[in-house]
Parts: sequence; structure tokens; C-alpha cells
Amino acid sequence: MVGDIERILIPRDKIAQRVREMAEQITADHSPPAMPDGDEITIVPILTGAMIFCCDLIREIPIAMRIGLLTVSSYPGSSLRTQGSQVLSQKLGDVRGRHVLLLDDILDSGGTLRKVVPILHELGAISVKTCVLLRKADRPEASDVTADYVGFEIPDEFVVGYGLDYNNYYRNFPDIGVLHPDAIERRA
Ligand code: 5GP
Ligand code: MG
Repeated sequence: MVGDIERILIPRDKIAQRVREMAEQITADHSPPAMPDGDEITIVPILTGAMIFCCDLIREIPIAMRIGLLTVSSYPGSSLRTQGSQVLSQKLGDVRGRHVLLLDDILDSGGTLRKVVPILHELGAISVKTCVLLRKADRPEASDVTADYVGFEIPDEFVVGYGLDYNNYYRNFPDIGVLHPDAIERRA
């Protein structure tokens, strides 16, 4: 697997450090005095890609939280560009009257957040904030989509690792990197 990665874009220690910083910011924004009506949030990782990011982030946020799950697919199989986001399943629990923080691995075209944020509002969340580990720079399609927390801006390249997949492989690669073209062919 390691040989399939052509280039590491973000090594694991940089990811860990940035995840801790994001957790600190999120904790401050969801505790008094920033949030006088309580210090509780509902975290909703968008699966499967945000799985590892979520596990690391939430263990650095020492406030009361519930977890809801949402599975969205936008790159089915060996696609390298979004095929449109589709909600495949949800186990959100009751989000009525709750402050929701959506987590995604990467913000690219914005299609996923554009689809999912209104769903949470329709289900009665009082507030919906968004947090992405990566955001691809210079994507005009996503100019209307806000992410309240962004870990890293990256160039417009297809990346894998730390939860991000190619055809459901490489999620367990601990760094974030770019695949070798041979691997793209072999794992298609
Ligand atoms: P968007 O809907 O904003 O276009 O893209 C968000 C979703 O597409 C992410 O949740 C992620 O699953 C997938 N995605 C976007 N860019 C990449 C990428 O470079 N690599 C991988 N593995 N998935 C991506
Ligand atoms: Mg995803």
C-alpha cells in the first residue's frame, strides 16, 4: 500500500497537530461565554470518509456530545470526480433543538454540504456548523459553500489516506497523499 502513494501531501504529525488546534477552537466556540445556552453539541460525521478524522477530533473536545451518523456517497467505485452526492443511510437520532456540527473529510465541489446542511435544518437542528479537514482551493463551484472550520487548503488533486479512499482502498493510510497512476489502474 505504501508503495502506491506517489507523494505525501500532509504527513500524520501535521494532521494530528492541526486536528488538535481545530478541536480547541471548536471547544471554545461551543462553551460559555461563546455559547451561553449550554455546552452540548451533536457531531455528525459524513461517512465513510470522515470516520478517522471524527475519531481523532472528538477525543480532543471535552464537552458533552452526541453522535449522529450519515452516509453519503459522491465518488462511487473508482470515480475520481464527484458523481453527485447521494445520502445512502442515516442514523442521526433526534436532532430537534440541537446544535449540530457536521464533519467531512474534504470539501471539493460543495455538493455534499449543499445537500446535507438543509436536511439537518429540516430535521429541526437549531444550528448547523460545518467542519472539514481539507478544502480544495480554487473550486469556483464551491464558492457559495461555507465551512466554519477548515484544517488545510490543498491543491485540486485527488488525495487518499486518513479516511479518504480510492474505490474504498487506502482509508487506513495514516498520511494524506496522492496516488501513483499505476495504483489508480490496478485498484480500479
Ligand atoms: P464535494 O461533494 O464537496 O464535491 O466532495 C465531497 C466528497 O467527495 C467528500 O466527502 C469525499 O468523499 C469526496 N472527495 C472529494 N475530493 C476527494 C479527493 O480528492 N479524494 C477522495 N478520496 N475523495 C474526495
Ligand atoms: Mg465523503
